[in-house]
Amino acid sequence: MPKAKCEGYFLFIMSENAGQKVKILNTLWVTHNVRRFQLEKPAAFRYIPGQATDVSISREGWEDKLRPFTFTSLNDWDFLEFTIKIYTDHNGVTNELGKLQAGDSLIIHDVWGTIHFEKPGVFIAGGAGITPFIAILRQLHKDNKMGSNKLVFSNRTEKDIILREEFENMLGDNFINLITGEPASVWYHKRVDSDYLKKLIDEGAGYFYVCGPDPMVDGITQGLKAWGVAHNHIIREEF
Ligand SMILES: Cc1cc2nc3c(=O)[nH]c(=O)nc-3n(C[C@H](O)[C@H](O)[C@H](O)COP(=O)(O)OP(=O)(O)OC[C@H]3O[C@@H](n4cnc5c(N)ncnc54)[C@H](O)[C@@H]3O)c2cc1C
Repeated sequence: MPKAKCEGYFLFIMSENAGQKVKILNTLWVTHNVRRFQLEKPAAFRYIPGQATDVSISREGWEDKLRPFTFTSLNDWDFLEFTIKIYTDHNGVTNELGKLQAGDSLIIHDVWGTIHFEKPGVFIAGGAGITPFIAILRQLHKDNKMGSNKLVFSNRTEKDIILREEFENMLGDNFINLITGEPASVWYHKRVDSDYLKKLIDEGAGYFYVCGPDPMVDGITQGLKAWGVAHNHIIREEF
């Protein structure tokens, strides 16, 4: 069995999962550039919702090109799932993932990552940074523990919103979209700036979960700390 280690809020699973080949069961485009992969699950495979693994493609020339992706499935599902933004602007791993079909295989490695659920709060995601929160929010929903948790999801356009319907169903009014690049959208709004963070703090958010492009995560972390939010109340990926 994998061993779970907890150091402060750093959670890490020492796994026996390195280099396991798993077959793709099915794929689905969930937006114009985000693809869902459902995969065979090795026996007794476990992770903490929010955690990731390094993934490579089981094809000649691609096996040693590892990229991190987050599990969006839950432990009690009988398959693994990744939700992956495909970049077609260069010949990288995600471009190649965009060409795979059911029956092809990926290689998954050790489970790692510091994003995990602590206590109720606000989840702030930018684009594909939503993926760790998919697993966490699905788990809370399944356990009837969604409570006052809130999701603030920032995207450039409405067509970039991943799993919009599912989040609407899980969170109702606590699902807040921000659209940064489409003035016609009802959610067209400025970025998650200092004033917006203060508003969230004033509304009672205790914990902040932040994932997205590095400049966004760093900016929000600095903004929260400037308003007095304690370091251990800000959950983000720590490298
Ligand atoms: C812990 C963790 C978990 C993650 N989980 C997920 C997840 O669940 N889903 C998800 O979608 N992403 C996730 N990511 C991000 C994901 O790992 C990257 O998107 C992926 O590694 C990109 O791989 P790539 O080989 O396609 O691109 P890379 O070659 O690694 O390039 C990445 C970026 O650089 C740009 N770039 C690089 N080279 C060129 C070039 N020559 N021309 C033009 N542009 C270029 C790409 O457009 C892209 O923006 C996660 C990242 C981390 C750290």
